[in-house]
This record gives sequence, structure tokens and C-alpha cells, in this order.
Amino acid sequence: LKNYAKGLAKESDLEISTESTIKLEVPEGSNGVLLKNLYLSCDPYLATIMKGTLHNPLFPVYSVGSPIKGFGVSKVLDSKHPNFNNGDLVWGETGWEEYSHIEKPDSFFKIEHKDIPLSYYTGLLGMTGLTAYVGFFEIGKPKKGEKVFVSAASGAVGQVVGQFAKLSGCYVVGSAGSEEKVDLLKNKLGFDDAFNYKEEHDLVAAALKRYFPEGIDIYFDNVGGKTLDAVLPNMNMHGRISVCGMISQYNAEKPDPLHNSACILFKRLRVEGFQVYECFHLYPKLLEFAVPYIQENKITCVEDIVEGLENGPAALVGLYSGRNVGKQVIKVSSP
Ligand code: NDP
Repeated sequence: LKNYAKGLAKESDLEISTESTIKLEVPEGSNGVLLKNLYLSCDPYLATIMKGTLHNPLFPVYSVGSPIKGFGVSKVLDSKHPNFNNGDLVWGETGWEEYSHIEKPDSFFKIEHKDIPLSYYTGLLGMTGLTAYVGFFEIGKPKKGEKVFVSAASGAVGQVVGQFAKLSGCYVVGSAGSEEKVDLLKNKLGFDDAFNYKEEHDLVAAALKRYFPEGIDIYFDNVGGKTLDAVLPNMNMHGRISVCGMISQYNAEKPDPLHNSACILFKRLRVEGFQVYECFHLYPKLLEFAVPYIQENKITCVEDIVEGLENGPAALVGLYSGRNVGKQVIKVSSP
């Protein structure tokens, strides 16, 4: 991190450094591991931590002059921790650097299903897949035949939610910011329908009426703001809104007002936010559910993989302009 970002994080707030202070072995007296980082996950929250002003105790703190941290897939090169052996493949919170020394690796998960692409452990089988699982199943509580709307639907979380919804027998429509993404949703990810919210201008509300003539039962919200406001009048009685993210608001100088909040009362809606950081105990349930479907080619993960750590800053800030098509991943090295 070169400096704390002012407003929306920019590529120039990060810089590549070739200095290294990491010894390629775990020092004596440590209980930690030395990791070789293979894939790094680009997630919208990383850019918000780069501002240095967020005081969410669940998030890591970034220091100017040090690598930022985020989820990634790594290989254990050296271990003095009883749970990890040299050669293990793991995923968890690591540094945006080639090698990381992790003093307390207890929260890392070992990768057991090696027949699945390793990069999936940043997405469908990583933090974002768990986010989709928790937000859709634990909060959305879907029932067969229900109508589901997903915003930022082609992204890391949204594409998984849509596929889970189809596997649960729901009707699902997604919104995304380009024709290419709309095509992906309809023709590769199995959504029943999709629309480009940028083309619909301020008429998302009208689009929702068209796509949901019988109303929405579950809204999986990745964007907040005007879209959330447009959804509220289209919700059915006792509908559920899983508040996953608010990417349209993270950098807004003035948050969008919510005009339709009375619908929450009149339609007896359940609106619930969640933080995946508090849900890692549910990871075995995600594996149990998703791995067989992946192995049977019934769910997939559309990935946007850039090669090389040096292309990480552009990939990260690109999340805020919708540059990514699918889960944004950085390939740092091969195992
Ligand atoms: P994505 O892969 O979906 O990438 C972000 C996408 O958001 C972009 O591609 C873009 O798609 C869309 N976007 C960017 N700016 C705006 C905007 N102003 N208005 C509407 N859409 C916008 O990211 P993730 O799937 O990783 O994350 C999705 C959401 O989930 C985020 O809000 C994130 O913070 C949240 N999240 C929450 C977690 C939790 O624990 N609650 C955990 C992980 C993620 P498009 O071209 O379609 O506009």
C-alpha cells in the first residue's frame, strides 16, 4: 500500500515493491507457516480498507508500506504448525505478495478436493461462495417455485447465488452492467432472465415489474442504493431481502435515500444483513452442497483471471467500474 486512498481507491494507491524481508523458512520459535501464494481474490471490501478509515474489527488493518491482505490460495512451503504439512494446499487470508509468513494460520482451510481447479477456492469454494451460501440459504430460506432477484449477478457472489437458486427450483433474474454479462447470465449461468441495469437507466423499477409480474420473494442485494429502493415495492408479502453488499454506496459522497422503506412494514419483509467473516463454521456445509454439483458439471464458476501480481491493482479497482466479467482472480504463481 503506497498511501491510504482518498475516495475511490486508485491503482496508484498501490505499488509493486521488489524488496523482501521474508526469509523462505519459518523462524525457530514460531508456530507459523511459510506460504507460496498462488491465487489472490479481488474483493470489493479490499478497496474500502485501503482508505484506512474503516474500523470494522472483522477486517484486517492495512499499513502504508506493507502488502495489503486478502483471501487467497497458497501452498505451504514450510510449517511449524501441527495442523499443516509442507506441500499442503490451503486457502485463507494471506498477503498480496509472492510469499507470506503467517504466524497464526489456524483459520486457514486445507484444500482436500484437488480435482477442482485451485482458483475456485477464491470463488465458488472460497469466501465468496460461502457468502452466496449463507445469504441465499440461511437468510433467503428459498422454497421451490419462489421468485428470486439478484443484483451484480454476474460477479463472484451473484453468479453463485443464481445457480443455487436454479438448483433449488426457483425462478431467478439477474441484473448486470453490460450486454456481455447479461448474455453470460442467460446462456452460461442458467438464469431464467437478465437485464442490463445501465440500459434501463432509472427504470429498474419498470424492468422489475416486467420480469416479476407476480412479485419477488427473495432479493439478494449486492448493490444497495437505488436498486434496493426500486426492489422494495416489487417484493411479495413476507419476502426476504438478504443484504450482502452495497457496492453502489461504498464510495458515495452522499448515500442514496431510501424512499420506499414503508414497504418493509406493509409487506412484512424480513431484511437481514450478514458478514461472512462470522460464518466460516458453515464452510463444511458449502462443500457438502457444492462439491458434488461441481463434479457433475451442474454448477460452474466464471472467472476473470489476470496473470501476475503487477496486474493486481488494476484488477482490484476495476471491480468498481464493472471491468471484471465473473470472479476476479489474480494468478501469482503455479504450485
Ligand atoms: P463482483 O464480482 O460482483 O464485482 C463487483 C461488481 O459490482 C462489478 O463487476 C459491477 O458489475 C458491480 N458494480 C460496481 N459498481 C457498481 C455500482 N455503483 N452499482 C451497481 N453495481 C456496481 O463482486 P463480489 O461478488 O465479490 O461482491 C458483490 C457484493 O457482495 C459486494 O457488495 C461485496 O461488498 C459484497 N460482499 C459481502 C460479503 C459479506 O460478508 N456480506 C462478503 C463478500 C462480498 P456490473 O458490471 O454488473 O455493474
